Amino acid sequence: MRYVSTRGASPALPFCDILLGGLAPDGGLYLPETYPRVSPADLTAWRTLSYADLAFEILSRFIDDIPPADLKALIDTTYTAETYRFVAHPGEAATDITPLYWLEPGKFALLSLSNGPTLAFKDMAMQWLGNLFEYVLEARDEQLNILGATSGDTGSAAEYAMRGKARVKVFMLSPHGRMSAFQRAQMYSLTDANIFNLAVTGMFDDAQDVVKAVSNDAVFKARHRIGAVNSINWARVLAQIVYYFKGYFAATRTNDEALSFCVPSGNFGNICAGHIARQMGLPIDRLILATNENDVLDEFFKTGIYRPRKTAETRVTSSPSMDISKASNFERFIFDLVGRDAEKVRALWAEVDKGGAFDLSGTPEFARCAAEFGFISGSSTHADRIATLRAVRERHGVTIDPHTADGVKVAESLRETLKTPVVVLETAQAVKFADTLREALGMEPERPAELAGLEDLPQRSEIIAPSAEAIKAYLSARI
Ligand SMILES: *Cc1c(COP(=O)(O)O)cnc(C)c1O
Repeated sequence: MRYVSTRGASPALPFCDILLGGLAPDGGLYLPETYPRVSPADLTAWRTLSYADLAFEILSRFIDDIPPADLKALIDTTYTAETYRFVAHPGEAATDITPLYWLEPGKFALLSLSNGPTLAFKDMAMQWLGNLFEYVLEARDEQLNILGATSGDTGSAAEYAMRGKARVKVFMLSPHGRMSAFQRAQMYSLTDANIFNLAVTGMFDDAQDVVKAVSNDAVFKARHRIGAVNSINWARVLAQIVYYFKGYFAATRTNDEALSFCVPSGNFGNICAGHIARQMGLPIDRLILATNENDVLDEFFKTGIYRPRKTAETRVTSSPSMDISKASNFERFIFDLVGRDAEKVRALWAEVDKGGAFDLSGTPEFARCAAEFGFISGSSTHADRIATLRAVRERHGVTIDPHTADGVKVAESLRETLKTPVVVLETAQAVKFADTLREALGMEPERPAELAGLEDLPQRSEIIAPSAEAIKAYLSARI
């Protein structure tokens, strides 16, 4: 299996060669040359597999440059009940990696993806990435220094995935004083020597700009072996395909049944994995894309116009992990939508990269979004999410987080148009966003017992100015 760039001007490469880099050299994103197709016999055989065994079946169809026994061992180390033990809802089996929780039996369910160490779905892929990096770096006798900026979920997931890994250091920039108390405690309480938390005196965008500035210095980047773990990383998207299969098997009895998934979306990473699962032949009817007030993607699926916002236009919302101005993985879907015509993708992104927009309204391609690829979309407001948090609590006795509430709201608003049951991906646990839960429910959200008192642990971070020079000096001194 080789991987090609969505812009068509980079050589096709095997999996391990695209793992540690970010964008392809031509500025595009990598995708497999073709999607492996899954037969009805495969589906039947996979239906009863454990999460790790299912993951091996799926990932081994995309990865042929790691010996199968090693790949199996990496997956078995990653997907353990021990790592994903922080159950979100009473009654969920702690042995299940991604439990399905029916709100209305046979009709409407949550797929809990946030039972990992940082209580957000990003652990599903990031834990695997940590083990994979360690394996590949060991084989090549290399070191990697991960530089990133986070508004919360990505940074903590990366740190918990990489902590204690001998060949990796993590330098994570976060906006000083702007994360939730829980998120801050999760990151800053880590004492591992390879984890560096840098609190930037500015907003998330300032932190992001500094990371970009440092990464654009190719000489510095190469000399200091700087890498990233952001959501365009193909290995992350790949690992996320697995839970669409697992969720499908949990929610259906036979492979004749179809299912729809609703996905709270930001950078289009999570739902991109759903798109690929569907292209592989998983019987997914609709892929429902849910956004918050930052509705770039909802606008596209409604109108055909993709108009990334200026950073300053990005709204700060109560579902902060979906506050994006442009969706970094979206190019992967558009590549498929235009029939994998790389020249067309290049032309569309020539506009986007200049800060512009593109308009597919009225084109045959745009019509394919819903008709052929199953996509529909919706968005929520803060008031919608608050009302949904309350309604889900009152009707079902279940506490969800504001991102999942966005998914539930959008799924409910489209339910009449659906012919299948719908599964909403639960992307985080409520305790991460206690302020919003207090506003909605007037109470503190429950948390896994093991995490009681997390905020009282000693915290370690360094305050730093949002300047590329300051960060470079910091990195040089520690690498
Ligand atoms: C990252 C994140 C999202 C958005 O996922 P994408 O892959 O960027 O679309 C949604 N909810 C939560 C809680 C997240 O952490």
